[in-house]
Amino acid sequence: MKRVVAEIITIGDEILYGQTLDTNAHWISGALDETGVKVIRRTTCGDVEEEILDAFRIAEHRADIILITGGLGPTNDDLTKPCLAKYFDCDIVMNKQALSELEAYMASRGRTLNKLTRLQAALPEKCEIVGNERGTACGMWFNKQGKVFCSMPGVPHEMQYMMREKVIPRIEKEFELPVIYHKIVRLAGIGESWLAEKIEGWENSLPENVSLAYLPAFGDLKLRLTATGKALDQIKGQTDDLIRELMPLIDKYVYGYDDDSLESVIGRLLRKKHQKLAIAESCTGGFVAHKITSVPGSSDYFNGAMVPYQNDMKIDLLGVRKETILEYGAVSEETVLEMAGNVRKKYKADYGLASSGIAGPGGGTPEKPVGLIWIACAHGDEITTRKLNLTKDREVNIRITAIALLTLLHERLVQND
Ligand code: ATP
Ligand code: MG
Repeated sequence: MKRVVAEIITIGDEILYGQTLDTNAHWISGALDETGVKVIRRTTCGDVEEEILDAFRIAEHRADIILITGGLGPTNDDLTKPCLAKYFDCDIVMNKQALSELEAYMASRGRTLNKLTRLQAALPEKCEIVGNERGTACGMWFNKQGKVFCSMPGVPHEMQYMMREKVIPRIEKEFELPVIYHKIVRLAGIGESWLAEKIEGWENSLPENVSLAYLPAFGDLKLRLTATGKALDQIKGQTDDLIRELMPLIDKYVYGYDDDSLESVIGRLLRKKHQKLAIAESCTGGFVAHKITSVPGSSDYFNGAMVPYQNDMKIDLLGVRKETILEYGAVSEETVLEMAGNVRKKYKADYGLASSGIAGPGGGTPEKPVGLIWIACAHGDEITTRKLNLTKDREVNIRITAIALLTLLHERLVQND
């Protein structure tokens, strides 16, 4: 089955200048993907006639459906409507249906039409209107030899309403679309290129209707399988079989599927075992505790955390030995080892986690450069440590360390299962 392809064109100077984040394109991409329409390109252009017309021409060549947002207002800076009239070679005329809908909309809000608002109902002659019960600018649907152009308002909630209620149902009716199924495998503790090497044979033998995407983020990785077909049951079964074949190659890195997060999976494991967790964080400053407590019901298994940032606090509050810090420094395997062991005991937990490192951007030395971080996980008297050599970026270091620490805990939980 030939895939129906779409291009999204978002219009507005403010998007190009970085004043407005183009959430419309992002949202429409997701909505079309769920519908079975393949988005092949997203274009943004400013409020400039030649640019807009050029974008229409190029999009028409490569896409079956062209979805446009923005620039529908009646003010002089909004050019989408005159551009559409020019592109489809027709005049802009008062549209009776649009006018009565506009009057009804304004009346429902206790307002009357002024001259400028009335202009919202003046539309290119060749369009069919797409009603907007959420605002004053109605959408426009053009059909050009089987190709569809649909122009919608820039205001996100108006556009989303129009897509959901009008545009997607019509696309589903007018085009033959496949069923799409996504399955996400979530991994931690392995980089994208190492993973790609491990699963190369499996990846190369994937059937034509299944595609694979690597989606890495801060030390945690999503592998997304997308299957297209005619029946959901069939492609679901096919995807499950493929994942079954894949698992032996990667199972030690897999912590979950779809919407699972490391912290939610850890929560499930701790709850199942009736075990408790405590954390002593230095360089992550409470971020690991924040992740753990973001999961509803975490009080079932999370005893608490401390952030002993200064050496004195590590010694006085957490009971790290002064000699350890003097001899090895706060950022050392010896120190995190004591931190994890001591917090576990102090907080009466089964598992203790600890982090200590140089998050940056300053504070590094030749022996201990920025990005050097030690983490540890204690379970009973068994303490596992890990050394991380990360980046010069503080934010990145904190995020990757948190994932690494949760990954370490997850590994231990699975080993002890
Ligand atoms: P209006 O009739 O309100 O003028 P319009 O169709 O002319 O609507 P714009 O003037 O282009 O739309 O944009 C209206 C508002 O919608 C903007 O202020 C902006 O905040 C938001 N907006 C426009 N385009 C986008 C986009 N691509 N992503 C997210 N927000 C957008
Ligand atoms: Mg506008």
